[in-house]
Amino acid sequence: MGFERTFSIIKPDATRRNLTGKINAKFEEAGLRIVAQKRIHMTKEQAGKFYEVHSERPFYDELCDFMSSEPVIVQVLEGESAISKNREVMGATNPADAAPGTIRADFAESMGENSVHGSDAPETAAIEIAYFFSGIELVG
Ligand code: UDP
Ligand code: MG
Repeated sequence: MGFERTFSIIKPDATRRNLTGKINAKFEEAGLRIVAQKRIHMTKEQAGKFYEVHSERPFYDELCDFMSSEPVIVQVLEGESAISKNREVMGATNPADAAPGTIRADFAESMGENSVHGSDAPETAAIEIAYFFSGIELVG
């Protein structure tokens, strides 16, 4: 809790449909500040390392193909309770279960192609931020 940073990805289904600005508006309206952001195109190997925690799950290969299929926006969001606040703004993993007004309720196409990633805990947030951003890219 307290003032935190969390890691976020706007996934290929959303960048493809030109939804970056609409999704960023949801973060900002919720009080999250985008303190770092860049557009990258991951290799399958880079996506695989990022999602290594899911490597035994049946959807892993498809997830890595999807995340490396087109460019994504990687970002660092900052604010009060940023990790849990971002998870609230994102909505449930399956868009069918996502609360009205959340990013996934409004934009996600399916359980897999669900528009956004967000860190789930302080430890994973720190690891995920460091995977994509160097210290000098984090100006606050
Ligand atoms: N995913 C999937 N099928 C599933 C569960 C997850 O394709 O049954 C994908 C989906 O893109 C999800 C990601 O794997 O966002 C990571 O899963 P996690 O359970 O960590 O969900 P999240 O934290 O993104 O809500
Ligand atoms: Mg997760």
